[in-house]
Amino acid sequence: MSDCLFCRIVAGEIPAKRLYEDERCLAFADINPQAPVHLLVIPKQHLASTAHTTAEHAGLLGDLLAAAAKIAVEQKLANGYRIVINTGPDGGQTVDHLHLHLLGGRHMGWPPG
Ligand code: AMP
Ligand code: ZN
Repeated sequence: MSDCLFCRIVAGEIPAKRLYEDERCLAFADINPQAPVHLLVIPKQHLASTAHTTAEHAGLLGDLLAAAAKIAVEQKLANGYRIVINTGPDGGQTVDHLHLHLLGGRHMGWPPG
């Protein structure tokens, strides 16, 4: 989608600090980090949110989680980390291209705000 910020990052039209890439997933540094490590893991294919997924996306969702776990090892987050997916207005989603936040390098509080 040409008017989607994260699709434009996938296409290389908007710069980002790319830290991981495979056939279906891309990870890059969040522009406004909330932890010492704060990356976004996204599908290269446009998908607006988890609310737009069906059973046919199960493989892709698994790939995103597996990519996040692999990146966590690369980022040396052996003490743990948090994966967050915001969905829709109440979930706090501000970019309508599905993304996992991978946060680490500090202790995470609970419950989230
Ligand atoms: P969310 O609020 O869950 O939709 O998360 C969107 C995230 O995208 C926020 O954490 C933003 O800081 C991040 N973000 C927005 N624009 C960019 C950008 N150009 N490059 C990297 N991260 C971005
Ligand atoms: Zn998109």
